[in-house]
Amino acid sequence: MSLDVAALFAERESERYALHSRYLNEQLVRVLKTVGFDVGFCRGEGQYLYDRQGARYLDLMSGWGVFAIGRNHPALREALKSVLDADLPNLVHMDTSPLAGVLAERLLRRVPYLDKVYFSNSGSESVESALKFARCATGRPGIVYCDHAFHGLSYGALSINGDESFRTGFAPFLADCVEVPFNDLDALDRALAGRKAAAFIVEPIQGKGINVPDDGYLAGALELCRKYGTLFIADEVQTGLGRTGRFLAVEHWDVEPDIVVLSKALSGGHVPVGAVLTRKWIYDKVYSSMDRSMAHGSTFGKNDLAMVAGLATLEVIETERIIENADRTGARLLDAFAKMAQRYELIKAVRGKGLMIGLEFGPPRSLTLRATWTTLQAMNSELFCQIIIIPLLKEHKILSQVAGQGINTIRIQPALTISDADCDWAERAFDEVIAEAHRGPAAALSLGRTLVDGVMRARVTA
Ligand code: PMP
Repeated sequence: MSLDVAALFAERESERYALHSRYLNEQLVRVLKTVGFDVGFCRGEGQYLYDRQGARYLDLMSGWGVFAIGRNHPALREALKSVLDADLPNLVHMDTSPLAGVLAERLLRRVPYLDKVYFSNSGSESVESALKFARCATGRPGIVYCDHAFHGLSYGALSINGDESFRTGFAPFLADCVEVPFNDLDALDRALAGRKAAAFIVEPIQGKGINVPDDGYLAGALELCRKYGTLFIADEVQTGLGRTGRFLAVEHWDVEPDIVVLSKALSGGHVPVGAVLTRKWIYDKVYSSMDRSMAHGSTFGKNDLAMVAGLATLEVIETERIIENADRTGARLLDAFAKMAQRYELIKAVRGKGLMIGLEFGPPRSLTLRATWTTLQAMNSELFCQIIIIPLLKEHKILSQVAGQGINTIRIQPALTISDADCDWAERAFDEVIAEAHRGPAAALSLGRTLVDGVMRARVTA
């Protein structure tokens, strides 16, 4: 008898928080209940989620960016079913997969200055692979990374994480990792000048805080890398495959990295996959002889479901002109938020490109509001964003999240398929909730106290 997944979900879904409290992460359940995010979503389709009553929510998180083409896209669903129906000789290992070959070919068609692909199973694992490739290719130990960087939470990736809160409790880390301020070419010059760095790794737009570099930064960084013999790794796990309105975010600045790391969206959201795109000479240093044909690899890398998830996702991105949609709707939202920033003194900055947008709040000018702000900040440095995020969900059915710990920035990162009607929905909701925050310091304070009394902070790892 086959497993009836829909029936199992329906039968046990009301126990989800109890099951997680008992067998998985109890603290996360406490956070969800405290902030009222224990909605119990029961269905996902495209950019929408549905609760038990069938009410529709606009998801501005898209599973931390994996659902670029939306949840349960019919083309992806059919492609994945067809893999299972085809009786393929998956993961033979002492053979090669045509599907992996074709996915590599299609990815490199979009990034023609790179030559080779290594497939892994996640963003972190792809970052680990890129670090190993860089050390092996250059024979150097050093890795230079940026403050506020996020490249994953496995040990290598954590060693280049620019946020202390993720490291606490896990030392010691990989040796020879050097942090530099993001967007600072002089600091990068000093860090690379000793010619000990195998690689400089950078997110073209940082996910933590949604930090966009100055226009000359990435090109200047690439030039410094060339000057000192360091490889330039672009971590496009979050920004890649159209999120910023270009296939790769580095295209905004005409930068051609030595290594590009992809994951998230390539999976279609449904089958984990990661990809490291590199130059041939780098790859050849790792796989330098028949003896070393398995010098780096993983059991599940190149599995058929993951490869087909990637192929179907690329096809949907192209046929539905999803990158163009991200560019257009992103520009519209950025413009709408910029206009709100002129009207609302609590909005400090609006940043982003395409559908990777950060809305930063900051201390207001007027005295009563400033007092509320200061009190909330003293309670908890992320509290203000919760004052916005909670009513967005409760009153407007919009799911969003803070862009990092200790940060007053909300991250807006929906499926790249959102429509103008969705933009209307989001703009109206943000406008009303932010207006309310300006009107009601007392309500904000009371909500703040309730949150602080509970376990407040929704830890963000994406
Ligand atoms: N790099 C970047 C830029 C990321 O945003 C993330 C995850 N949010 C990772 C790497 C790690 O990916 P994963 O969670 O799949 O390991």
